[in-house]
Amino acid sequence: MSILSLLHVTKKYHQEQEFAINDVSFEVEEGEILALVGESGSGKTTLLRLIAGLEHPDSGMISLSGQIIVEGIKSVPAHERKVGMVFQDYALFPHLTILENVKFGLKKGDADQKAKETLKLVGLNEDFKKYPHQLSGGQQQRVALARAIAPNPKILLMDEPFSNLDALLKDQVREEIRQIIKKTGITAIFVTHDTKDALSTADRIAILHKGYLQQIDIPKVLYENPINPYVANFFGKRNEMTAIPSEEGFYTTFGFINDPEAKKYTSKVKLLFRPEHGEVVQRVGQQLTGKIEKISYFGSHQMVKLADDEGNRVMIRTNPGRSFEGLERASFYLWKYDVEEAF
Ligand code: ADP
Ligand code: MG
Repeated sequence: MSILSLLHVTKKYHQEQEFAINDVSFEVEEGEILALVGESGSGKTTLLRLIAGLEHPDSGMISLSGQIIVEGIKSVPAHERKVGMVFQDYALFPHLTILENVKFGLKKGDADQKAKETLKLVGLNEDFKKYPHQLSGGQQQRVALARAIAPNPKILLMDEPFSNLDALLKDQVREEIRQIIKKTGITAIFVTHDTKDALSTADRIAILHKGYLQQIDIPKVLYENPINPYVANFFGKRNEMTAIPSEEGFYTTFGFINDPEAKKYTSKVKLLFRPEHGEVVQRVGQQLTGKIEKISYFGSHQMVKLADDEGNRVMIRTNPGRSFEGLERASFYLWKYDVEEAF
């Protein structure tokens, strides 16, 4: 069942400006974690602010938990929407202890107990009397998370929650936050410009570009079947190879690819593929070959840069144990590529 739905939501800050959000419609399922991605200025923060009630759209409808919260001039005030928010800088109150931070916004009565329970839930056990500056970045973020979820919001919105953490910490925190959110069963939307965050943490990803929603789907589909070149390139560069189609396959500057699909095309095409969609094979002479220009070792894998006689280059990903010593050329095949008629 969907808990949040947006219908044709549009927002412009100033008349002379471009739309920050342009005709955006989508739904979020109950208990789902949705990542909102897109380059800087694509409208991610604006979209969260519209849902939270910190901005009002020019047109469109938003409903939360079966209630219409925005339509025309109707707007349920932010504090009545039951939306939890975690901001990029955590926005903790520096002069309050972490317990007081979490109690803020809770109704008196059982606030103390509720705040303590929530702090424990996010993995902070004894530091209740500490002040935010006495905590690490990762711990401060958990306090911010506890403060946002303690009042039992219908949905949790997080703006760039991982961007202030260093790379090593980030992998760990990301997984912990995912587990906490899943444990509480809360529906969450988090904004990120990091594709790794989105691919590994979200149930689904929505990608924005210039205020337009480009695609919304599970990570695998966005990565493997992007709807357009913008989405494809957002999730990592693709290799490009020029090819001439024939009855049996494609002629490329790296060799011939057997593919009966080629006869569907009548003029020059581009073959597009990610480094992991190729495989380096043992013997030179099979399928495609290139001159080995560079091997880059990454621990978990190696990247092999191969060039044709005209100086075009492709990158193929291969396992880390493979040795290329003494080899000048390498053969490879492609097990997946998109064909684009772009000439
Ligand atoms: P993102 O979070 O993806 O970086 P934003 O939602 O912050 O993008 O911004 C989307 C667009 O709206 C940008 O062009 C930005 O300059 C503009 N914008 C955002 N906030 C305001 C504001 N308060 N006043 C005017 N323009 C704004
Ligand atoms: Mg932003």
